[in-house]
Amino acid sequence: MSTLGQGEAEGSLVTPRDVSELLGMRETSVLTVYLEVDPTKPENQRAMPAFGIWLKNALQALSADLPDEQSSGFDGAVSRVSECVNYYPRAGKGLIVFAGEDLWKAFDLPLPVTNEIHWGRPHLPQLLWLLDEYEGYGVVLADSENARFFTVYLGTISERKEMVLSLDTSDWKQKDQVAPSFPEYERIGGSHRDAFEDRLDEQIQRFLREVVESIEGFLSSEDVEQLFLAGTDAVHELERLLSPQLREEIVPIVPMDTSAYEHEVLEKTWPLQRAAVEKENLQLVRRVVEQAVGREAVVTGVQPTLTSLQQGRLQLLIASREISAEVRECLECGFCSSDLFSKCPVCNSSDVHNASLTTLLPYLCRKYSTKMKILSAGLAGQLNPQGGIGGVRRF
Ligand SMILES: [Zn+2]
Repeated sequence: MSTLGQGEAEGSLVTPRDVSELLGMRETSVLTVYLEVDPTKPENQRAMPAFGIWLKNALQALSADLPDEQSSGFDGAVSRVSECVNYYPRAGKGLIVFAGEDLWKAFDLPLPVTNEIHWGRPHLPQLLWLLDEYEGYGVVLADSENARFFTVYLGTISERKEMVLSLDTSDWKQKDQVAPSFPEYERIGGSHRDAFEDRLDEQIQRFLREVVESIEGFLSSEDVEQLFLAGTDAVHELERLLSPQLREEIVPIVPMDTSAYEHEVLEKTWPLQRAAVEKENLQLVRRVVEQAVGREAVVTGVQPTLTSLQQGRLQLLIASREISAEVRECLECGFCSSDLFSKCPVCNSSDVHNASLTTLLPYLCRKYSTKMKILSAGLAGQLNPQGGIGGVRRF
């Protein structure tokens, strides 16, 4: 396993399944901490590291605004988080913790995170953004006799499997006793050479077809959405054998020797993946922003988006990481609105409170089976005149 930059991440890496578990929890008294603990930064190498000072101040500020009845739960969470941060060496650059009375989840990420703390429901937008922005991809590095399969997840690469062409020479009856390895067979002359070449080609073709089958299995078993093909000339032959659907998704082929180290595979594919994600997100924002002019397929703005979402009419919601709107939430039925009602217009309950829109959005999207995409502030800039939020309707 190899990670970007220095150091290995030994703590648990967060997975989409963890997010799903957090979204399914009913706990509303949870301390969420995102902390940039990058040990390579000088300010984090002091006796009192910068992240420790930041956390102490942020916790103090948060506790000042807390209602009295929540203070004991809060203090309990704070002491567990402080112990985790101050007494255990961190393995990654980013630390994410969710601490509640019946909840403890701590993740070490090989990537930096932006410092944030929240009290209430687990606050997931930054985590969702990270998982989306650094979504997993696969790399198949191959030539005509070797294929190596890698997955890259949150900036960490792991080699999953290797396939090697094993030549079946039992029926070759070689008269000249030359082992049919590649440099040798080039030297075999005359009619023997043609026979060797045919048999070799046949076995290479068979090997490449086996690799193609494995690629299909790899994509489904590893939950890999994006795949890069890398390798030398023979990889183009491999590409030709892929189904048209797969071939369409694999561009470009990354030139690389099959003996490359894991970190080289990571360094050559990582920028390509980042560019692909950025392009996809940009297209999505343009689609929502440009169609927002008088078209029915999309919706923008806090209240129109919340309304469509709660009518079950959105297939996809996009929101800037930076939106900071407060909304009213009914604690009885879960209805939300930017209209600050004192009695819920749906169930008539007066058990209502103010809540952060960004905290609530992942829960609402889950409730209405709407896919959610959190966008970095720069990318979401075009959406800002519409409140930094919008969605695509179901058809
Ligand atoms: Zn209600």
